[in-house]
Amino acid sequence: MGRPWFTALARAFSSAMTVLGAGCVLGLSLLTWNTWFAARPGIVLKPETHYDFIIVGAGTAGCVLAARLSEDPARSVLLLESGPEFGWLASVPLAAPLLQNTVSDWAFRTESQHASQLGLKNHSSAWPRGRGLGGSGQLNYMVHFPGVPSDFDRWEKEGAHGWGYETIRPIMERLTCERPHDLVPRNSSPRISYRILMTGDRLCLPQRTKKCVPKIRLAGGEPTSETLTSAFVDAGKELGGDSSKDQEWAEKGFRRSRSSIWKGRRWSTLESHLRPALGRDNLHVMLNTHVGRVVFSADLGPGTRRAEGVFLTSGAIVLARHEVIISAGAVGSPQLLLLSGLGPKQYLKQFEWIPFVADLPVGHNLHDHLNMPLYVSFSKPNLSLTLSKLRSIRQLGRYLFYKEGLLASTAVSAAAIWPSNLGILLFAMGTPEESVLGNIANYMPETFHGLFPLAKNSSQEGAVLLSSCLQPHSRGTVTLQDSNPLSVPLIDPRYLSEPKDVKCMAQAFKLAARVTKTRAFKRLGAKMHLPEFKHCGKPNLKDDAYLACAIRTSAITGYHPAGTCRMGSGRQSVLTPELLVRGVTGLRVVDSSVFPTPVSGTPNSVLIAVAERTANRLIIEYPTVKYDYFY
Ligand SMILES: Cc1cc2nc3c(=O)[nH]c(=O)nc-3n(C[C@H](O)[C@H](O)[C@H](O)COP(=O)(O)OP(=O)(O)OC[C@H]3O[C@@H](n4cnc5c(N)ncnc54)[C@H](O)[C@@H]3O)c2cc1C
Repeated sequence: MGRPWFTALARAFSSAMTVLGAGCVLGLSLLTWNTWFAARPGIVLKPETHYDFIIVGAGTAGCVLAARLSEDPARSVLLLESGPEFGWLASVPLAAPLLQNTVSDWAFRTESQHASQLGLKNHSSAWPRGRGLGGSGQLNYMVHFPGVPSDFDRWEKEGAHGWGYETIRPIMERLTCERPHDLVPRNSSPRISYRILMTGDRLCLPQRTKKCVPKIRLAGGEPTSETLTSAFVDAGKELGGDSSKDQEWAEKGFRRSRSSIWKGRRWSTLESHLRPALGRDNLHVMLNTHVGRVVFSADLGPGTRRAEGVFLTSGAIVLARHEVIISAGAVGSPQLLLLSGLGPKQYLKQFEWIPFVADLPVGHNLHDHLNMPLYVSFSKPNLSLTLSKLRSIRQLGRYLFYKEGLLASTAVSAAAIWPSNLGILLFAMGTPEESVLGNIANYMPETFHGLFPLAKNSSQEGAVLLSSCLQPHSRGTVTLQDSNPLSVPLIDPRYLSEPKDVKCMAQAFKLAARVTKTRAFKRLGAKMHLPEFKHCGKPNLKDDAYLACAIRTSAITGYHPAGTCRMGSGRQSVLTPELLVRGVTGLRVVDSSVFPTPVSGTPNSVLIAVAERTANRLIIEYPTVKYDYFY
């Protein structure tokens, strides 16, 4: 009673706390509502009974198809995605590795390997795959590569008629708005052409379009890695030697890399294609919806079965008037076809719950790139991304306020393609962090330390050269664990099961080692650190046995699995060149599983072109209104 000022103060404090508490509760409720319940345009919780097209999987390819097919309001499209939406972190380019092993990642593990992955836990490779709106395009490293002519011509030769380079080139040029010969003046300096290429918004003049807005928007390297990137490009010229052919490759082959980043944010097909289409009345998107199998019409004789729709694991069935399109990725698509009774007849017999539909080599022909790391340290300062630079508040501020700085870049600052299918990626990462890289690569601790001896010094300048065989011959499989659609499939890439792949990887590794010895790299104070593994003996580049052992121990996935529903002609192919599943009607596959052989580099942009071309065909095949212009 005797201290009114104290009571008043206590009351004021209590009211303030109540207001603050209520504010917090309101804020949290709004956040939860916004994340989970608020109506977002185009996202539906319940499907209608019929759509013209049903697309399974909202990954790189699925987003392109859904957007393109719904351009015409008279065509209804349902896009089904097993996962949720990705969070904000996915838009921050350098944060990409942090999404692995989270809810946004299928986090597959391969079967234990016999000829490779020997320095990885359980000899098993970690295979991240995006799970959610945008798919793997939301957790990839965003490197853009338009493919080389021989990739597409090889596809055509292998029976994928109509997929030669001359077909793909105009699509790719339009996607990036790049027609170098038309647009960059022949006599302009390299610096000017580089600037034009990097801005990504220059004009090109396709028929009937005044301004070309690039779908694949591209950014260049970050300033910190500019010196290193230039040194890498110069190293390529040095290695070109006198032979004119080699010189041509050196100039074509060693390049600063370009990334699908726009205004400091990831620019996946979710942004370029799907996001602008969300909200169209004729496009429905369902999240957290897993497709269990394709529903077929009755069997009235060979080739008469038609894909009628899909069966969701929630128990619902949705029907398609025109087609069901599977875009569930190189692992998800073969799994879904096998669960639907499309696969090798003998193999499917063991699953009594799966009614057989058609005998096809589904799940075969799995191919992937392997990357072999070579660490190089530099004595000169300010060349690469180091952990101490990344941890600075300044970098965080630069990103949050201006969407620039190290966080707005990927660490991949340059790439090389060299004759005989050798490739190198330059990761301008001075100090790989064990808890991140060790974890995502599934390395045993001794493998990590054998590769990166200076990793403890968080200010050490350096880079990782990832060498690769761009056209590996080893082929693996994706098969079923059981007939439950929610079970994880069995992935066996059989890396390095073909001895010529080991030889090719060793050549690529030697090329990376040669890069570190060039004058351009020496000027940076480069020191190469050959991997040291006790069981491989003394590091020696001339010792083939050492090289093979180091590669079999520490080369890791390049994250490019493909080929499991290959297109082509003949019995080896699952799909026709039009990507229709053989033996049935009304069913198509469009994603990285269709590639008959690997792309000689990173595949995402090539896949976008494949999906665009297929959308063009579908629009012609199922016309609703008259279109007078296609590219
Ligand atoms: C870590 C990483 C880094 C990479 N870096 C690069 C790079 O720098 N440059 C590059 O070019 N490429 C890169 N890639 C490869 C590239 O991202 C992929 O090749 C490409 O995204 C594959 O697209 P997709 O459409 O075939 O499949 P995805 O994008 O994987 O889409 C498949 C979608 O289907 C969904 N799904 C699967 N099963 C079902 C089902 N039953 N029901 C409903 N939905 C289902 C999945 O959740 C997923 O969203 C990288 C990949 C990874 C994983």
